[in-house]
Amino acid sequence: MIVAMQERATEEQIQAVVERMVEIGFNVHKTTGTLQTILAGVGTPGAFNHKDFELFAGVAEVIRISSPYKLAGRGFRPEGSIVQFPNGVSVGGDEIVVMAGPCSVESRDQIFSAAAQVKAAGAKFLRGGAFKPRSSPYSFQGMGLAGLELLREVGDATGLLIISEVMEISQIELMLPYIDCFQVGARNMQNFNLLRELGLVRKPVLLKRGIAATLEELLLSAEYILSGGNYDVILCERGIRTFETYTRNTMDISAIPVIKKLSHLPIVGDPSHGTGRRDMVPQMARATVAAGADGLLIEVHPNPDKAVSDGAQSLFPEQFSKLMDELRIIAPAVGRDISQPVAVSV
Ligand code: PEP
Ligand code: MN
Repeated sequence: MIVAMQERATEEQIQAVVERMVEIGFNVHKTTGTLQTILAGVGTPGAFNHKDFELFAGVAEVIRISSPYKLAGRGFRPEGSIVQFPNGVSVGGDEIVVMAGPCSVESRDQIFSAAAQVKAAGAKFLRGGAFKPRSSPYSFQGMGLAGLELLREVGDATGLLIISEVMEISQIELMLPYIDCFQVGARNMQNFNLLRELGLVRKPVLLKRGIAATLEELLLSAEYILSGGNYDVILCERGIRTFETYTRNTMDISAIPVIKKLSHLPIVGDPSHGTGRRDMVPQMARATVAAGADGLLIEVHPNPDKAVSDGAQSLFPEQFSKLMDELRIIAPAVGRDISQPVAVSV
């Protein structure tokens, strides 16, 4: 159930509603938007008549939520959520935010070159996996802690924010000092214990859609994180598995307007995993922005042919910089801002 308070509702009025909701057995999540306070009741309350809440002073509207996700639904924050990061960067506002870098952190030289290249082109985040979920146990599994240390060092040197994948609960504490955003990979979208723990931290989480997940399942996974009180969740469409084999996955661009309709959470697109092919990444990146996404996650490698993972889908730095120029034409056409290239000395 969602209780939308009136614009001028007082703290006492809000408190009275919260107390009644708790009495009935709800867990109450409160969000204060620009206009009004919204109270979302989740859990399994005892019998009650939701109409009774309309009689409380200061209440504007009471909505019974029939969808299985309550906090991830649009009704919780009708105006949309903006996830704030250090350095004044935010995802979900007017600006299209680009996160770019190699699939994996491989070496100091590699990550420092990649950082300088993506920063110069206008990326705000450096991506790079230190823990890698690989289909084969014999493939490179990531540099682990040494990779995280390099990410933090290069983040501090360049001012880029750092996003990196967390694969299991035991890595959360370890990663906290090194990263600005956790990435939950497609394979872990339904690792519910991991999601619950991420609900308890106060650092943003980018949650990727699983390879066979419906959008409702994606939103339910987000709900696990939100229900722990961590509202800083960004969704990511990264392609799903279909009967088509030409591309590695099928980039579901329609997920973007669907999520925008169903949820207040920001959504970004990952055309690198969405296509698996460097020659198709720019087209899908452009389409993602045109469809209304809040940002992009793109693999860029200083020398893709030598990459230890996902080289075939990693852009050359010049390709990435050209793509950013193209996005600077598309973004304003769909009412969005995007950063300009910057002079870099690392
Ligand atoms: C990645 O971002 O490198 C990655 C492993 O992505 P996904 O979880 O989408 O496969
Ligand atoms: Mn990858």
